[in-house]
Amino acid sequence: MTITEKKEELRFVTDRMFGKLSTWLRVLGHDTVYAADLKAIEEDEDEDKAIAAFAKEEARILLTRDKELVTLARKKGVQCLYIETEDVMAQLKELLRYNVAINLEPVPLRCSVCNARIRAVEEGEEAMLKEKSYVPTSMVWTWNFWICERCGKVYWEGSHWRNMREMLKQLQ
Ligand SMILES: [Zn+2]
Repeated sequence: MTITEKKEELRFVTDRMFGKLSTWLRVLGHDTVYAADLKAIEEDEDEDKAIAAFAKEEARILLTRDKELVTLARKKGVQCLYIETEDVMAQLKELLRYNVAINLEPVPLRCSVCNARIRAVEEGEEAMLKEKSYVPTSMVWTWNFWICERCGKVYWEGSHWRNMREMLKQLQ
């Protein structure tokens, strides 16, 4: 199976097994909804049906390790990719093998926690950065910072990003 959309247009929904994979896909800039975050699913008795309906409604590619879910979703016309591996790097490799054009450069585009778009922190917002206990304020204005408008999480290009880049290089 080949996924042909341009890489910036890829939108995913991942099943409950893929918390880590969801985080990585967001770091790579891809719009990714994690099924465990869907409110409708908590209330719905049939989780598989709810995930498939959501994927269909939003025209998202479903990533799952559940063969029954694949069958159900494909019947509804949802594009599905069945993922076999458990390790997140191996999962990204599988996506590449499926010809999914995933950009392997981390890009400051999307919040890895909630999937919303992030924006650059601007001059005059130092006070906001200082309120976040996890932000190394000594680095303010030596690094670039980004903030998620939805959940308030702040991001910057630190060692964490360099580590991620190194891990991703091994996939290329
Ligand atoms: Zn967020």
